[in-house]
Amino acid sequence: MGHYCRICGRERPNEQFSGKGHKIHVCKRCKARPKSERQAIEDKDDIFAFLEQSHISEKNVVHLERMAKSDNPQVASLAAIVLDVARVKPYKTRRLKFLAQKHPELLGKLRNTGLILA
Ligand SMILES: [Zn+2]
Repeated sequence: MGHYCRICGRERPNEQFSGKGHKIHVCKRCKARPKSERQAIEDKDDIFAFLEQSHISEKNVVHLERMAKSDNPQVASLAAIVLDVARVKPYKTRRLKFLAQKHPELLGKLRNTGLILA
């Protein structure tokens, strides 16, 4: 039975995980990547996950604010967009309709960046 790596998102054989890697769900190959690169992948995962949640919490907002200052420009711009969403419509219910009516430019950004499917 394999093991799931949360960085590459792949099921990999057990021998691809060291003791510590097993615990943190990161395979050997991904562990060898630079930390900044791994961090960027994890940050992007978090940003996408926030949009899937029924509600973006205050705690999530703090996390997004931190990511909006990331050294990685892609992480920083995605976090800034989701931060705007969290401020105007933290609840997922009818979010897209609300954004289409009140904040079409923000909805456009979500689509252009692939944060939501067009
Ligand atoms: Zn991996």
